[in-house]
Amino acid sequence: MLVVMQAHATEQQVEAVCEAITNLGLRPHSLPGAQRTAIGITGNAGAIEPGALEDLPGVAEVIPVSKPYKLVSREMKAENTIISFPGSPATIGGKTLAMIAGPCAIESREQAFRIAEHVANSGAQFFRGGAFKPRTSPYAFQGLGEEGLRIMAEIRDRFGLRIVTEALDTESLALVEEYADMIQIGARNMQNFSLLRAAGRSRKPILLKRGIAATLDEFLMAAEYVMSEGNYQVVLCERGIRTFTDHTRNTLDLSVVPAAQRLSHLPILVDPSHGTGKRNKVIPLARAAVAVGADGLMIEVHHQPEKALSDGMQSIYPAQLMQGFEQLRRIAVVLGRSMPEPAGVPHLREVASR
Ligand code: PEP
Ligand code: MN
Repeated sequence: MLVVMQAHATEQQVEAVCEAITNLGLRPHSLPGAQRTAIGITGNAGAIEPGALEDLPGVAEVIPVSKPYKLVSREMKAENTIISFPGSPATIGGKTLAMIAGPCAIESREQAFRIAEHVANSGAQFFRGGAFKPRTSPYAFQGLGEEGLRIMAEIRDRFGLRIVTEALDTESLALVEEYADMIQIGARNMQNFSLLRAAGRSRKPILLKRGIAATLDEFLMAAEYVMSEGNYQVVLCERGIRTFTDHTRNTLDLSVVPAAQRLSHLPILVDPSHGTGKRNKVIPLARAAVAVGADGLMIEVHHQPEKALSDGMQSIYPAQLMQGFEQLRRIAVVLGRSMPEPAGVPHLREVASR
């Protein structure tokens, strides 16, 4: 067990923690570092209940020394990771929230462009769309493949939006990497270790979605796989987990946001679309996600969701996206954050002048 003190923790706070450890019948080992102090604990037969120490003043976190992940952890890097995108003002993990919106799947050029225009108008910096779709049924629409990627590359040129799209397997990864600005690893692949390693050898940022039954540790270990290969640009994304409740498609676990932020310096986004599976719950959960401190959102939007080839039930209408963003803008301010502003973005000026 290791108690990591906050960088600005005082000597008295360090001493108080050492005393609390002694009072538990254990032995503290205070190890001051250049940035901050870590206090190792010995003398325990089994696991120590961290609750007693976690809330003491000056404590950043209490972690088992046996913790297997390293590169993702705040121990390794105290400051938040901010990911930037060449040729774009967009960042993920900074003060401005990262907004990713678009259809579940690219269905046609016309469909994608219609939706992309709304996405650009909303101020979102990223356009999402699946070209390779992980579908439960082998008979369901599987995506347009490279044709879908080409359409998204055109959308980047036209609207200045950065492109996020999924790589379904190691075979399609190189192709996706060629076209995408950020490569998505889907929930079903969160523990596809060969794909994670391959993504780790890519130089493009990776959007890693939480597995449908993954614990936070498993989620972070998946990110560790990517980082262990040298790609440090990883963005986590909570997208709901499988539980017994059936009023939503998945249960959006918003508590994972502060929990992940406490343990890791990596940015974390929330996907309220897959997280709820229901159009009328997407914006309410998006509001909650911003309030809980997420670094951004991924939202499925479709101009004709009733005709969508995948995930129509959870795809919101463009007008809902616009209204939702207005509400999110006000929530973000409370937290000292901001939403991307459409007016200041060059692609919007271009759209407006057409
Ligand atoms: C998606 O983003 O369209 C998707 C399939 O997500 P997930 O992997 O979270 O189900
Ligand atoms: Mn989808």
